[in-house]
Amino acid sequence: MKTKLFVSFWLIGILVAQAQIFDKKYFKEVLDTLTSNSMAGRGYVEQGMDKAANYLQNEFIKNGAKPYASNYEQKFQFPINIIKNARLTINGKELKYGTDFIVKPSSKSIVNSKLPFYVFDTKTYIESFQSKNKTRDFVINDTKLQQGKNIILPPLDTKVDSIAQYYKQWANNYEKDETQSRAIFRFTSDKLISSLSQRQSTITEFVIDAKYYTNHLKINNYSVEAELNPNFEAKNIIGAINGKNNDSVVVISAHYDHLGKVSNVVFPGASDNASGTAMLLNLMKYYVKNQPKYKIVFMAFAAEEAGILGADYYVNNPLFPLSKIKFLVNLDIMGAGDQGLQVVNGSVYRKQFNRLVDLNSQNKDLKEIKIRGESCNSDHCPFYMKGVPSFFIYTLGGKGYYHDPNDKVENLNLDYSPKVFNLLKDFINSL
Ligand SMILES: [Zn+2]
Repeated sequence: MKTKLFVSFWLIGILVAQAQIFDKKYFKEVLDTLTSNSMAGRGYVEQGMDKAANYLQNEFIKNGAKPYASNYEQKFQFPINIIKNARLTINGKELKYGTDFIVKPSSKSIVNSKLPFYVFDTKTYIESFQSKNKTRDFVINDTKLQQGKNIILPPLDTKVDSIAQYYKQWANNYEKDETQSRAIFRFTSDKLISSLSQRQSTITEFVIDAKYYTNHLKINNYSVEAELNPNFEAKNIIGAINGKNNDSVVVISAHYDHLGKVSNVVFPGASDNASGTAMLLNLMKYYVKNQPKYKIVFMAFAAEEAGILGADYYVNNPLFPLSKIKFLVNLDIMGAGDQGLQVVNGSVYRKQFNRLVDLNSQNKDLKEIKIRGESCNSDHCPFYMKGVPSFFIYTLGGKGYYHDPNDKVENLNLDYSPKVFNLLKDFINSL
């Protein structure tokens, strides 16, 4: 009886201690700060990315991580096409950027060009796949008819995947040798996913939710203000905590940038990747108080959304030999977890993956740890390409507001964050 009671108290003690390790209040505070309007989507207008970098640097200092080099900053430059404003009024209704329409990130500036409209003939297009001759005739005709006009690409109604895929790329045909200012209005029933471009195109492309297409379409007003900045400056924020053994290094990385702000629409990027950044800071807080086995270097990368540029710059300008990295854990999209975790490179580093699965089954923390092969889709990639053992871990589930203005803190599921944190910590301790 006595022993039993003792065991129960001991268990409760452990559970309380576990709950306290993860600072839920701090996690939420970081999320709220990084997604606030003042950070302007941590992108390319209103010094959004820079403000986020400065905030993170302060958190590194407050938490007690030391700079790896002489300071926390690693600066680099790159070209970026900044979409500052984009407006579109169709059939008398002004559409909302990010959810009703977006513009292709390589678009150039335009204001209501006076050119006539050419409506792409989707019916003949689908029929043109019946024979080589029909395809040729269609292309010749389309090339001729579209010249000197704004182009409307209506939604395509087909179940044939290859035809649909080909159509998605069709607008690229109009980009060649472009000299005048004209616009493409492409309607699609796909989810609108905003992104960034490092180059500026010769043409402007609006991508519009198919539900706004009508047979008597009237495009009343449209404009895009785009600026190609050839030397945008960003900075990675890097700090370290010494371990018991400092010959080897464990890297915890997360990108803190996002897509920025277009017109008055902010892309808060709560899941992508304020959540991973908040997780990184929570792990930092923990390891300052609990000395790790190996030195841990925390890398908060900039410009991931522009093409994994921060991590790419780092591996070409490392602060210490990459061969010292025992393992890298990259955190991106940590805002869910109700369906468990996915591990990119899981099938490459089987031993470590199996350990992660074992740790999870011991504590029954998360529903499932899913395995995936290599994929160059986040900051782990440039390291992996240089032979650094690495995982990219992301949460599964959630509402799926990927790269749109609804990726807000209120749409995250934070119930699983303490469990994800515990598993990550256990895994890092097991390396
Ligand atoms: Zn992203």
